[in-house]
Amino acid sequence: MIVGERKPFDEIKEMMKSFKKVLNVGCGGCTSICMAGGQREVGLLNEELQNAFKQEGVPFQIDGFTIERQCNADFFPDLDEIARTYEAILSMACGAGVQFLADRIPFSLAWTGISDGLRKIVAPAESASWERQLESVLLQDVPKAFSMDLAGELLEKANAK
Ligand code: SF4
Repeated sequence: MIVGERKPFDEIKEMMKSFKKVLNVGCGGCTSICMAGGQREVGLLNEELQNAFKQEGVPFQIDGFTIERQCNADFFPDLDEIARTYEAILSMACGAGVQFLADRIPFSLAWTGISDGLRKIVAPAESASWERQLESVLLQDVPKAFSMDLAGELLEKANAK
């Protein structure tokens, strides 16, 4: 299992400030279990973001959608359709989940709201087959680090389309 912590609110708000319509995608797997990025946390964060932008008079819409596992294609079909109507996706899964999501939904920008535990595999991989598969991914370096620099580049490309 991956242990993740939600990033600080101000950091997430900073990431979201360039967007008007965002989908916050929770993960029903590890980050739900460690109470960082499941359905409940998605709802709480959305409310906080919505209120913060509203107080500043900034138009901002954020909706929530939680799938069973962001690292497993079987759970994506509904999200594939829903995601098309949003400018950006905020992922509340671990780094593996956000990478999977970004590859799966390339027309959207994916951002991560979780400081994940890519090096914190706290349960043996034998516990479930999806965890075993994932282990091989997690032990590699994350190719897509969603740093603010990269975020700026992605935004420029998106605006140029
Ligand atoms: S994407 Fe997979 S590995 Fe990552 S938190 Fe969700 S279930 Fe766990």
